[in-house]
Amino acid sequence: MNVDQGEINKFSALAHRWWDPNSEFKPLHAINPLRLNWIVSHVDLQGKKVLDIGCGGGILTESLDQAGANVSGIDLSEKALKVAELHQLESGTQVNYRKMAAEELAQQEAGQYDVVTCMEMLEHVPDPASVVQACASLCKTGGTLFFSTLNRNPKSYLFAIIGAEYILQLLPKGTHEYAKFIKPSELAQFTRAAGLSLLDIKGMTYNPITQVYKLGEDTDVNYMIACRK
Ligand code: SAH
Repeated sequence: MNVDQGEINKFSALAHRWWDPNSEFKPLHAINPLRLNWIVSHVDLQGKKVLDIGCGGGILTESLDQAGANVSGIDLSEKALKVAELHQLESGTQVNYRKMAAEELAQQEAGQYDVVTCMEMLEHVPDPASVVQACASLCKTGGTLFFSTLNRNPKSYLFAIIGAEYILQLLPKGTHEYAKFIKPSELAQFTRAAGLSLLDIKGMTYNPITQVYKLGEDTDVNYMIACRK
């Protein structure tokens, strides 16, 4: 299976703090409204069948549900999924969470989803191209897909690892491995190989002084892409 168990264990060990906005997951809470707005600017989620891959504790997943979509979330961390399910008791959302790999679900539910999201997950798997291919299979023809990950260059090493893990300590040390970062050209290649066309690319930047995240054209560190099948 296309999974690094060490990565799953890392997320499982922290899972109980997933919904604490001041925890290791603070950056995900902070960027969530930005990425949700960007997704909504591309697709009307009302009544859409949406799949969130590598959903973790459900930060994006719940917000997709709250935006009117009919949402499923998959991940391989049982603990994260338990936290996601428990959190729904409070939030009242109706996401269907399942412990499953993208490739496995693609065997069962190919072509069934209007929208597929896979955020901050590709840089944690051994074979990201295979996940992109599975996402493409799961999506309906004409559907929209969203991916986000970390770029690979000296600046992203400095900001995403040295800055975020060692200086600002926004993330635990060892959260990210530089060699697994993915250049936009590489991600674009994975999507082309999966038969997708690129719609949009957006960068995400963090200002450590104001502690504000912004969307823009700077894709040097964090970035997201939108594709059409
Ligand atoms: N997508 C969520 C969580 C990102 S954290 C968000 O952006 O808010 C990365 C998640 O990917 C973790 O929950 C981890 O368990 C999951 N993950 C890592 N490797 C995976 C794999 N091979 N298959 C499914 N999920 C995986």
